[in-house]
Amino acid sequence: MIKKLLIANRGEIALRIIRSAEELQIKTVAVYSTEDAEQLHVKFADESVCIGPAKSSESYLNINNIISAALATKCDAVAPGYGFLSENAKFVRALEEAGLKFVGPSSEVIDMMGDKIAARDLMKKNGVPVVPGSDGEVVDVEEAFIIAEKIGYPVLIKASGGGGGKGMRRVYKSEDLKIEFESAKSEAIAAFNNGSMYIEKLIVSPKHVEVQILADKYSNIIALGERDCSIQRKNQKMIEETPCIRLTEEKRKELYSAAIKAAKACNYENAGTVEFVLDRENNFYFIEMNTRIQVEHPVTEMVTGVDLVKEQLKITSGLKLKIKQEDININSYAIECRLNAEKPLENFLPESGNVNFFYAPGGVNTRVDSYLYSGAKVSPYYDSMLGKIIVKDSTRIGAIRKMRRALEELIIEGIKTNQYLLYAILFDMDFIRGNYSTSFIEDKLEELLNLMEAYR
Ligand code: ADP
Ligand code: ADP
Ligand code: MG
Repeated sequence: MIKKLLIANRGEIALRIIRSAEELQIKTVAVYSTEDAEQLHVKFADESVCIGPAKSSESYLNINNIISAALATKCDAVAPGYGFLSENAKFVRALEEAGLKFVGPSSEVIDMMGDKIAARDLMKKNGVPVVPGSDGEVVDVEEAFIIAEKIGYPVLIKASGGGGGKGMRRVYKSEDLKIEFESAKSEAIAAFNNGSMYIEKLIVSPKHVEVQILADKYSNIIALGERDCSIQRKNQKMIEETPCIRLTEEKRKELYSAAIKAAKACNYENAGTVEFVLDRENNFYFIEMNTRIQVEHPVTEMVTGVDLVKEQLKITSGLKLKIKQEDININSYAIECRLNAEKPLENFLPESGNVNFFYAPGGVNTRVDSYLYSGAKVSPYYDSMLGKIIVKDSTRIGAIRKMRRALEELIIEGIKTNQYLLYAILFDMDFIRGNYSTSFIEDKLEELLNLMEAYR
């Protein structure tokens, strides 16, 4: 078993990982930037090391400083969480060279799945349905025109190295292709230092449905249910739920077997997520694989009873998966709301400052994963996500009612958040019916913002 773990992250996910490690009696080391000295992850870990100034590029993304911290504190493994270095193959190779274990798959798998063109190609070869689109990279606008004509508008221009919804552009008519291609490409170069682009058919108003996978070193792979993450704004998820009520049992089985096929195709090891879009006829298509723990993993934990982070740590330690596919029986409903420091009424401008007072909701089957406390600092340097509220109930409407109640209890004073926007969504009739796609927020934003005003 891992003896001492360095957590190369901050915020709620650092706390989340520390909790599971402590329960497995693994010692923990937190890292932090000078900006984060007062954060809870620093207090909860057994030890902590400052790894640089506020700017992520000099601290949480500083590979040398993180490895030095791990070696100096005699850690034998590093957990990356999500974001930051979690999908950085160079980081994983550097850890391997330093003799440290990485809580995640190998650098080869990360490289391959991080290159979305290569991943798409691999899935196609292995019989996993992918969205119709280009064969490999689209090098320039001329080629983009030819491919878009062939697959038919609307199309989606995507960045091979993309993540967090960046480097993507929808194009509805050929007149817009040139400008959108160029702007997606420059955004991709700026964000990922990689201007490799490809094109997919834009599936109109799909559901985003993803499958949670666990795989050990011994080729045991299981699917732990799906998550419907269609409530998105600018391709960033806001609310996630499991199960996806649009899937029939038959479709669900097909989806799981496609996800397992995808994991097998790359010899996957550790926790991972295979993402799909589901069209209006319930055809699903692979879009990408995330080779890390995801923000929305708790909904799966709520309905399966499996601690995914503990499983990650056990897999990294070389243990065999004890859970069998037959053990995964899902008969409840879970919902997660992502709480962000932002101003929905001012075009979602990120918010920062001090939280003067914080009260987290409680009650049966109500979970809060957040780094907030009364007095916490919300820094302008990092992601605006403050944490998540997760609830479970035996019925879907029960879970919705529980989430409303939880959001009513939540108190955050000192900074603006999206609390009441989330609350408004929970009263929308289409949301209540489960009748929603990734266009939900775009279509209803004005109405939701008005409702939100009324609730405040
Ligand atoms: P999830 O499905 O887990 O929500 P996201 O793509 O939203 O995945 O990413 C989770 C977190 O990681 C978010 O905070 C997002 O901003 C960040 N992130 C994702 N991809 C990248 C990337 N390539 N570079 C930097 N941050 C990223
Ligand atoms: P990221 O790495 O930024 O998460 P994804 O490939 O997962 O990139 O795409 C982000 C979101 O964009 C998805 O959750 C989905 O809502 C939407 N999307 C991706 N591909 C398509 C497509 N071909 N058609 C329609 N929507 C798509
Ligand atoms: Mg994605």
